[in-house]
Amino acid sequence: MSTKETGTMDNDTSKPSIAFIGLGNMGAPMAENLLKAGYTLSVFDLSDAATKRLEKAGACVAQSPKEAASNAQVVISMLPAGQHVHSVYLGDSSAEGLLAALPKGTLVIDSSTIAAADARTVAEAASKLGIDFLDAPVSGGTGGAVAGSLTFIVGGRADAFAKAEPILSAMGKNIFHAGEHGAGQVAKICNNMLLGILMAGTAEAINLGVKNGLDPKVLSDIMLQSSGRNWTLEVYNPYPQVMENVPSSNGYQGGFMSKLMQKDLNLAMQTAKDTHVDTPMGAKATELYTTHAQDNGDKDFSSIMGRHDASVLF
Ligand code: NAD
Repeated sequence: MSTKETGTMDNDTSKPSIAFIGLGNMGAPMAENLLKAGYTLSVFDLSDAATKRLEKAGACVAQSPKEAASNAQVVISMLPAGQHVHSVYLGDSSAEGLLAALPKGTLVIDSSTIAAADARTVAEAASKLGIDFLDAPVSGGTGGAVAGSLTFIVGGRADAFAKAEPILSAMGKNIFHAGEHGAGQVAKICNNMLLGILMAGTAEAINLGVKNGLDPKVLSDIMLQSSGRNWTLEVYNPYPQVMENVPSSNGYQGGFMSKLMQKDLNLAMQTAKDTHVDTPMGAKATELYTTHAQDNGDKDFSSIMGRHDASVLF
């Protein structure tokens, strides 16, 4: 289907064609921003609802990762976890991986948050086939994905980074080259370990105030202008109705699922263990999210507020 038929912007043939795999809470708005910037997109996701959204926005829908990549110079993936990235690129017992089907010189950008070791494994396999691989996890949440203001934290060779930069700029505002393969993932899990600690701590502080008679909005405004200020208070308050257009004011739907935060905290803990680094606050946040995700795994990670006041979850 041409983008003209759907009434969206004409694609620019001087730009590389892109295959986009994984169109969830993050991938869908990221892919939409590439279309808006004039890129031709072929997309694949296991979910029909996810691909329909992109078809409406002007993308071609493929039936497999290979079909999506058949005419693409660049492949971007935004998948839940390491096992999904592994099976898409390297294959599993049921199918051969995508890497084997890509022509030499293809640029592969994986923006999923996965273990640095998994990213290095895929990068090594890609390199043997003459394919450039970058780990390029993001920060900024679904709001940043929609606004095209994500931070990309990239690991891989400098020449591949230079090729990727203009494409990433269509989806993000700050594009960092963190270092070699895997460096993007290490930086990302350091950030998310801190985010898990901040979200759990912010929910705890708001609860303490509310249980002592304070209005959550008044308390949040005070902390925003005081030394407890942090990203969660600025753009992602965990208490319902303090802020508009955040998951806590929408039944904790959408956003960044608690089970994904739990995954990232586990990645941070594994890295800390492997490298003999002490992370007691990270360990506590991991414990809190592990318990919380048992019954609230699909809810946004700000639903950790419900640990203190279960009524906010319903
Ligand atoms: P999501 O679960 O909403 O989306 C993942 C998508 O991948 C789903 O649509 C799923 O159907 C699809 N998928 C799974 N396996 C597939 C396969 N084999 N082939 C094709 N599609 C497949 O997750 P999300 O929130 O979009 O997160 C994606 C990644 O980004 C995760 O690694 C997460 O940790 C990271 N991340 C998320 C956020 C956030 O705020 N949601 C922020 C930063 C980073």
